[in-house]
Formats: sequence, C-alpha cells, structure tokens
Amino acid sequence: EERELGKLRSKPSRTRDGVDISLFANAESLDDVARAHALGAAGLGLYRTEFLFLQRNELPDEDEQFRTYRDVVLGMSGRPVTIRTLDLGADKADRTGLVMDDEDNPALGLRGVRLSLANTGVFDTQLRAILRASAYGKVRILVPMISSREEVLQVKRRIKKVATRLRAEGHEIADQVALGAMIEVPAAAIAMAGFIDAVDFVSIGTNDLVQYLLAADRNHEALGELYSPLHPGVLRLLRHVITIGADAGKPVAMCGEAAGDPRLAKLLLALGLREFSLHPATLLELRKAIRGSDWSALQAQGSKLLQARDRAGIERWLEKNK
Ligand code: PEP
Ligand code: MG
Repeated sequence: EERELGKLRSKPSRTRDGVDISLFANAESLDDVARAHALGAAGLGLYRTEFLFLQRNELPDEDEQFRTYRDVVLGMSGRPVTIRTLDLGADKADRTGLVMDDEDNPALGLRGVRLSLANTGVFDTQLRAILRASAYGKVRILVPMISSREEVLQVKRRIKKVATRLRAEGHEIADQVALGAMIEVPAAAIAMAGFIDAVDFVSIGTNDLVQYLLAADRNHEALGELYSPLHPGVLRLLRHVITIGADAGKPVAMCGEAAGDPRLAKLLLALGLREFSLHPATLLELRKAIRGSDWSALQAQGSKLLQARDRAGIERWLEKNK
C-alpha cells in the first residue's frame, strides 16, 4: 500500500479523463516545505505564518520574518508559494500582547486581517518581509478572514505603499505578487462577485467557513457531528464560490481540512473544484483519489449532489460515487 502510494510522487494529479487538478501543500515549517517539495506538490497553497509569532514574548522583526519566508520560497525552488498574512486571534492566541485576551467571542473578534488592519505597523513589517522574499521565487499573498470589498482594497493600498517604499529603498522585489482572499466568512462567500475583480485568486478555508455557517465551534467536542462540510447549506455555498470564481476567470482553491480528506475528493470535484491545498500527510492519497476519478462523469453528478436535502442524502451520493 505504502509502496504503491510512493510511486505516485512523480505522477501527475490528473483525472482518468485527463483533467489536471492542482495539488498544493499546506505548510508551517521548513520540514513541511521539504515534504511538500518531495511529494511533487504544485506549490504551497497555504503557508501559515502564525507559528513565527507564537510561544515567544516579542514580535519577530522584519529581518527574521524575511529570512524565514525566503527560506520557504527557496525550499520550493520556483513553485508558487502562498504566504498567508498573520491569522492570530481566536484559537491562535499569542504571548506578544498583540491578541486581545478578554474577548467574549474570540472567533467573532479581532482576528486575522482585522487584527492586521488594527496594527498597521505589525502588518506593514510582515508585508515588507513577504515582498522582500518575493525576489527569490514566485510569491503570492493570501489574506485571512476577509469579509468585504473594503478590506480587500485596504490591504491592496497597504501592499502598494509598502512595495513603493521598498523599491525606493533599493530593495529588489517581484514585479507581480498575486493577492488572494481566504473565503471563510460567510458574507464574503455570498458577496464574492462584488470583490473578485480586486483579487487574483481565492482560497476557501472550510475550517472556519463551516464553523461560521453552522454556528458550531470548530473545536467543540460535543458538536463534532454538526461541525461538518456535509450539509446542504455548505455544499451550496461552496458551489456558489467555485462558480463565481470560474465566471471571473480567477482560480479558486480550497485549503481547509476538507481539501485533504480523500473521501471528499469526488464530492469536491463534482462541485467543480480544481485546486486543493492540503497537509503533505495525505497528499499522495488525494492524488490517488483524483487519478481514480472521472471529471466529466462527476460534473454530471453535481446537480444531484446539490439536490440532497440532508446529510443522509449527501452520504448516499458519496456511497454511489465511491
Ligand atoms: C481554514 O479556516 O479553513 C483555514 C485553512 O485556516 P485555519 O485553519 O488556519 O483557520
Ligand atoms: Mg481559517
């Protein structure tokens, strides 16, 4: 079994009928980066920067961040590296004093891009470090917890300002650094048509999107059954996001845990998803599932899937399309 999977390292992530699916990796350490590279990931679809800020009392400065991001970029030797800006807050509390520790509802609080826009000094430092790393490979910036067009435009203005400043200081940075929004706040998913023109790509964060859609804490032990993407409301919203992205000609990826679950691969393909970003641990299993799938047959099953009225209906679809 493992040897069989090992053979897939150098095989394309292509469906039986010849449709290429992009498998990117999620990473938060240089170890993950090395694994992703060795497994033939198309690039990094989500590089989480939080760990740089955790378990320490002081914020990492620009140079420390720059060196870390540069090493990640070099580790992927030219493949795209999607660096997510700081997503502290809620479940990822720090010791540096950046995150408020007395929020009534941390998941609904000052986290992700909200925290960055409330601490523009910290945000600009991170953007400077990311842009400097863009001289070493293909860097893309991904912004967590986007809820509106206004936030996207605010982030764009900051990136532009920071880039101009860096060039004036003589730093070499890439001409183009793609900007993406995480789609994990329901209102952003619903209103995506209103800001898709302002981004280069989006990446669906199902971990949070499911939490917010179902009003079910992602870490709540008693809500494990409810907290699941296998809900008609979730599937319909995923389909909406994928369709709006396709209509605009912008790539739509998924980087939540659902993207790394081989049992859900066919369901996500049926919804039209072509880009997955997942932990290296299940990358080969997912590639295997994709290579055993027929894209056009699954597209034909997409509307049936969306007609399911309950979890049992979705599970019947999964069973039928195994
Ligand atoms: C998500 O919310 O799906 C996601 C990928 O981000 P995180 O798990 O870091 O919140
Ligand atoms: Mg998230």
